[in-house]
Amino acid sequence: RVPLLRAIGLDKAYGSTPALAGADFSLRAGEVVAVMGPSGSGKSTLLHCLAGIVRPDAGTITYDGRELTALSDTARSALRRTDFGFVFQFGQLVPELTCVENVALPLRLNGEKRKSAEARAVEWLARLEVDDTAAKRPGEISGGQGQRVAVARALVTSPRVIFADEPTGALDSLNGERVMRLLTDASRDTGAAVVLVTHEARVAAYSDREIVVRDGSVRDAEWAV
Ligand code: ADP
Ligand code: ADP
Repeated sequence: RVPLLRAIGLDKAYGSTPALAGADFSLRAGEVVAVMGPSGSGKSTLLHCLAGIVRPDAGTITYDGRELTALSDTARSALRRTDFGFVFQFGQLVPELTCVENVALPLRLNGEKRKSAEARAVEWLARLEVDDTAAKRPGEISGGQGQRVAVARALVTSPRVIFADEPTGALDSLNGERVMRLLTDASRDTGAAVVLVTHEARVAAYSDREIVVRDGSVRDAEWAV
């Protein structure tokens, strides 16, 4: 099968610091791929390039038949809002908004009315077992609850790809496992693929496949060119 998301020969440097050098990657629809490797090896940069947040210096990224690297910034932002969901390690919830407003936000940004957006947000909070946080602000809930709210927000638009960068990095192992189970269950139910950046084998164990980034390079054995 043709991959949903595929990158070939990505290079990216920050000034004179190389972050990616010849990285290849592929993701099939519904697949959960763990991106592993030591700190500073380029995992986050790879994720940011694949998600259309960072433009690589060289190489091509194809998403669903479109060349992401050739799209305008506006077109890439639009694609991110409709097709991608994001979960990061820290600071992703808007502190001034309640949890239900946070989860409804991506739907609101896509033009959905408040009432239906919040109704769907509540369903997702319940699915992630944190519906009791709906009326609270992020400062009033625990870190583990916050990550589950963040997963609800990533899934509420029914994205085809979820980008998760160390989603359990700030959690203890019990909460980390819980977030991973809920995230991978939800991705299986909805058919969303997941790009999971982690340096923990125990987190990567929830994936279908693991790849390892070393010094900015990754050979994706399954799709070697
Ligand atoms: P991790 O190892 O968990 O990916 P980092 O500490 O490398 O986290 O990076 C955290 C954030 O800071 C990322 O958004 C990354 O792009 C950015 N970053 C990393 N290194 C630098 C740097 N030398 N200068 C500026 N920003 C950086
Ligand atoms: P990882 O996620 O594996 O820790 P990163 O992709 O965050 O790796 O970083 C790869 C390299 O690029 C590191 O040397 C890091 O310091 C550097 N880097 C990442 N983001 C930035 C940035 N925004 N500005 C400058 N250097 C960066």
